[in-house]
Amino acid sequence: MMYIPCPHCGHRNADEFVYGGDSDKRRPENPEEVSDAGWSDYIYSVPNVKGVAEEYWRHKRGCNRWFVIQRDSRTDRMTQCSGN
Ligand SMILES: [Zn+2]
Repeated sequence: MMYIPCPHCGHRNADEFVYGGDSDKRRPENPEEVSDAGWSDYIYSVPNVKGVAEEYWRHKRGCNRWFVIQRDSRTDRMTQCSGN
């Protein structure tokens, strides 16, 4: 069983959370200038980092808040980064 450390509720079962994507990914600053291929890349390309990456998670079945967490994809070890 995997637990995720919510900054507001503490460690909870991973079934209570929703993955929100890579926290380093930024929406294009000038969206009207982005090509269809550029939008496709922004929406569907997911970096598959082997090692530590920062990710958005939402505690859907708890406080319903978003936060950033560092997850090591090799071990699924999670370290709390921030909460809003
Ligand atoms: Zn929570």
